[in-house]
Amino acid sequence: MLVVMKQTATPADIERVCEWIKEKGYTAQPMPGAQRTAIGLIGNDGRVDGSPLEDMPGVAEVIYVTNPYKQVSREWKQENTIVEIAPGVRFGGTEVPIIAGPCSVESESQILAAAHAVKKAGAVALRGGAFKPRSSPYSFQGMGEQGLKLLALAKRETGLPIVTEAMDEAGAELVAKYADCLQIGARNMQNYSLLKAVGKIGKPVLLKRGMAATIQDLLLSAEYILAEGNSQVILCERGLRSFDTTSRNLFDLTAIPVVQSLSHLPIVADPSHGTGRRDKVLAMSRAAVAAGADGVMIEVHPHPEKAMSDGAQSLTPVQFTDAVLQLRRIAAAIDRSIAS
Ligand code: PEP
Ligand code: MN
Repeated sequence: MLVVMKQTATPADIERVCEWIKEKGYTAQPMPGAQRTAIGLIGNDGRVDGSPLEDMPGVAEVIYVTNPYKQVSREWKQENTIVEIAPGVRFGGTEVPIIAGPCSVESESQILAAAHAVKKAGAVALRGGAFKPRSSPYSFQGMGEQGLKLLALAKRETGLPIVTEAMDEAGAELVAKYADCLQIGARNMQNYSLLKAVGKIGKPVLLKRGMAATIQDLLLSAEYILAEGNSQVILCERGLRSFDTTSRNLFDLTAIPVVQSLSHLPIVADPSHGTGRRDKVLAMSRAAVAAGADGVMIEVHPHPEKAMSDGAQSLTPVQFTDAVLQLRRIAAAIDRSIAS
């Protein structure tokens, strides 16, 4: 439930509403806006009778949030949330940042070559997994903390902020020491203890949609993070399992405008996992920007044929450079720009 205050409401009016909410056993979250303050009632998943509030001084209206996700919804907050993962690297505004880098950190030379190449081409954040959730226990599992240290080195050399995956609750604090933005992978979208942990850590989170998750599931998972007091969440569409094996996943472009209508959180597109094939990544990157994605995440490897994971969907630096040039033109056509 959301209590919208009048423009003329005094601090005492706001306090009175907060007290009423607390007396009922809920948490009151005042959210000062440009025009007026709204006060969120947090902690109920059913309907609270807010009619006594309507008569209180300073109250303009009481809005019942009808969606099961509350703080994540547009009903709760109308204006876009801007998530800034590093100074100037913002998701959710008119600029469209590009995150790029290899699927996994594999060696010092590999991650440095990737970082320099994607920076030169126009990426504003570096990705790369140090802890990899692989379908097979026999596949490369990532370099672990050594990989995080190499990401830190790449950041020192290029200035690019780091987006990297935290795979479990126990490891989240460690990853957070190195990451500017913590990635939660598709396989972990409903790992609720991990979601709570990254909510408490408070750093920006890139939450990937599960491969068989509905948009409501995705938004409810984001709600777990916001419920811990962390509103710095970027959602990510990365493709769904489908009956058609022509591509690795079925990239759900529609999710972009759908999420934007339901939620104030930014949504980025991952056409690399979305298609699984290098020759399809450019087309789906262009489509994602045209559809209004608030960012794009693209896997780029200095030598994709030697990649230890996801080589088939990784662009070469040359291909990525061309992709960024094309994305700039697409962004301009919809009055946005690729962040630089
Ligand atoms: C990744 O980003 O490399 C990754 C493992 O993605 P997903 O969780 O979407 O499969
Ligand atoms: Mn990958």
